[in-house]
Amino acid sequence: MWQWLLQNGFMPHGFCYQWRPDILWMHVVSDAVVALAYFSIPLTLIYFLRHRRDIPFRWLIGLFAAFIILCGLTHVFGIWTVWQPVYGLEGLVKAMTALVSIFTAMALVPIIPEALKLRSPAELEAANRQLEAEVESRRAAERRLEEVVENLYRSNEELEQFAYIASHDLQAPLRTVVSFSGLLQQECRGRLGPNADEYCQFIVDGGVRMQALINDLLQLSRVNRDTALPAPVSMGEALGDASRQLQGMIRDRGAVIEAGTLPVVMGNPVQLSQLLQNLLANAIKYQPAGQTPCIRISADRRGDDWHFVIEDNGIGIPEKHLQTIFEIFRRLHTDDQYPGTGIGLSLCKKIVARHGGRIWAESEPGRGSRFHFTLRAVDAHTALRNWPHPAPA
Ligand code: ADP
Repeated sequence: MWQWLLQNGFMPHGFCYQWRPDILWMHVVSDAVVALAYFSIPLTLIYFLRHRRDIPFRWLIGLFAAFIILCGLTHVFGIWTVWQPVYGLEGLVKAMTALVSIFTAMALVPIIPEALKLRSPAELEAANRQLEAEVESRRAAERRLEEVVENLYRSNEELEQFAYIASHDLQAPLRTVVSFSGLLQQECRGRLGPNADEYCQFIVDGGVRMQALINDLLQLSRVNRDTALPAPVSMGEALGDASRQLQGMIRDRGAVIEAGTLPVVMGNPVQLSQLLQNLLANAIKYQPAGQTPCIRISADRRGDDWHFVIEDNGIGIPEKHLQTIFEIFRRLHTDDQYPGTGIGLSLCKKIVARHGGRIWAESEPGRGSRFHFTLRAVDAHTALRNWPHPAPA
């Protein structure tokens, strides 16, 4: 085999050129230049592939490089056989070149449709420009949205400010109206004509109701004005405080309040006591006539939050109102049935939102209600970082 490849009794190719230097060197130099050019192309291709790893059909470029190297090799053999008759080996290299070239040619055909699908640089640039325009228009929309949110916050603040000033400044003249109409009622009883006593009573009642409304509005507008930093608050103590504030109501209705062990949370002690006060007052108030209110308060840990439940045995709430009752002035009863201002639950929602929590209700008419709310635990330090939480108006 070795013999067949290297020495097989032929004459070197130089004999065909009759060893004429002009012909011989023209062939040798041309073959050498072509071979050098062929060998340099794969090197350039390899360099290109190494620096552009995103180029598709890399395997085909590799195949192409092999094909070119083999072509170069056939020219090297063209030089070698001028002096050495290694025609067997030359033929073998040519056969390998033929095999690889046919393989490359065949592999090229099926990838053409795929290659045609590739986006041209001009197309890519156009797509890029379109994307950039889209990003820019989104950024502009985002900026507009930020402006709207900022305007909303500002008008919200202004509204709160207005509510605070209006309710605060209305208190003094209203106090005068209530106290002087009460005095008038006492001093002129039976002396101002048949209906006057009743009219005086209407004025006093209206004034007292307006005082309750203004007080509640003032509380509501104060929630976000309080700038005190959150501190650990014992909810057991907040409950004690709320019960003391409601002691007249609790005594009158004979209400029974049961509480499990309540945790310490991060927050504002005054607001958290207000929260419990409103929920307890509602639980005592919204009862069928003559029934003893039974209220249970419990808490369990859920991740970073404490989840509180205040459960009562009252009249309950129809399902369709379970969300709307948290809106301001939303009442499900007339003042004659159950007195109130319709502000208590929206105050609760605002307080809970400012503490980074959530409030919701579950109920069935006639089967009592369960008010749930969450508050950050003391060890959930994010509460400190995020304070004050933006609260809805
Ligand atoms: P107010 O009690 O002054 O009317 P709230 O905002 O506290 O205002 O409550 C809104 C409405 O939600 C009440 O009018 C009442 O119909 C209903 N509600 C609140 N708490 C309870 C409860 N524990 N049981 C039944 N209904 C309730």
